[in-house]
Amino acid sequence: MKLHEYQAKGFLREFGIPVPEGEVAATPEEARKIAARIGCPVMVKAQVLVGGRGKAGGVKMAKDPEEAMARARDIIGMKIKGIEVQRVLVARAVDIQSEYYVSLTVDRSARAVQCIASASGGMEIEEVAVKEPEKIVRFPLDPEAGLVRAKHFDALARAFPSPDVAVQAWSILEGMWNLFGAKDCSLVEINPCALVPGGRLVAADAKVIFDDSALYKHPELEALRSPEEYGADELEARANGLSYVSLDGTIGCIVNGAGLSMATMDLIKYFGASPANFLDVGGSSNPEKVLSALRIILRKGHIRAVLINIFGGITRCDDIARGILMAREKLGIPVPLVIRLIGTNEAEGRKLLSAAGIEAYDDLTEAVKAVVARAGKAST
Ligand code: GDP
Ligand code: MN
Repeated sequence: MKLHEYQAKGFLREFGIPVPEGEVAATPEEARKIAARIGCPVMVKAQVLVGGRGKAGGVKMAKDPEEAMARARDIIGMKIKGIEVQRVLVARAVDIQSEYYVSLTVDRSARAVQCIASASGGMEIEEVAVKEPEKIVRFPLDPEAGLVRAKHFDALARAFPSPDVAVQAWSILEGMWNLFGAKDCSLVEINPCALVPGGRLVAADAKVIFDDSALYKHPELEALRSPEEYGADELEARANGLSYVSLDGTIGCIVNGAGLSMATMDLIKYFGASPANFLDVGGSSNPEKVLSALRIILRKGHIRAVLINIFGGITRCDDIARGILMAREKLGIPVPLVIRLIGTNEAEGRKLLSAAGIEAYDDLTEAVKAVVARAGKAST
């Protein structure tokens, strides 16, 4: 579960990290009042759950409350990466002398929390990793032993210009570590961590993501959930018991099992096309699930073909076949449909489909090649 910057900064404050004063506004008039109260200049910042707001024109400085109101009017309602801005954070602007990066994430393969720090803040870290990999410092933190000054301070200090600044970075990292553990985060990121006059470090931007699998331990966090984190299709999928993630490609995928879904997406990529979604219809046999899955996928405008890949175990192929026939009747499927069907009740499933003039593959590679060919390999 992702937090907006203003929410994330609230947690940073709670854990003792210096953050410029600020408040969230839903209207230009509110933005004006906040700017007048906290003092100018201020930054007016789009609150959307995506990065790169600055580049998209969603972060603007204002020298007085009237200008803050004007900037809020520009930013509220604009779309950033397809998401409409509903609120802005009005925060005291700081005079940034240099920008640093600090984050904590989970490194599953190392069974550790990974700390990443860099002297090239401001940019997205993925970009730094490509352009200036030598500027990135990273070290694992044992989840039980945690941050140990004798062990980790020198590594962190390499990203900062002087021991004095590094000492402040250390105290910020301690706050981040405490937050990370206390709320079961999967990401705590400060970018930029800004060096301001007087040699002080402050968190000028923050991202916090809670691990959904641990939210049951923190019921109070549920209230912070933003509906816009999920698209309408993702919300509908969840309501229908489907595990679904929307992606940008052109080939809709309906698969049973998360592992098989991943393998299917990999194969689609391997043959030069891109999946439009991840979708796991799960283990249970319910023709209705195929119907809802197709309805959700087909609503996306750019679908060129759909692949249904079923390896029947608990899922029964005849139920899937019934779902496909029902969907064909109710939805009318406007794009090519390629089916791969093997496993439990395969013969019955095939019989149902072929009676309706549909043939199913049994080999996954062949099915993926066919769906990519029929989608026209046009995706990127
Ligand atoms: P992002 O683009 O979504 O990561 O949004 P940020 O909050 O990181 O803002 C983007 C950029 O705006 C930062 O890298 C800074 O260069 C600039 N910025 C943000 N806050 C301030 C501020 O208080 N003062 C100044 N001078 N620049 C800021
Ligand atoms: Mn940022």
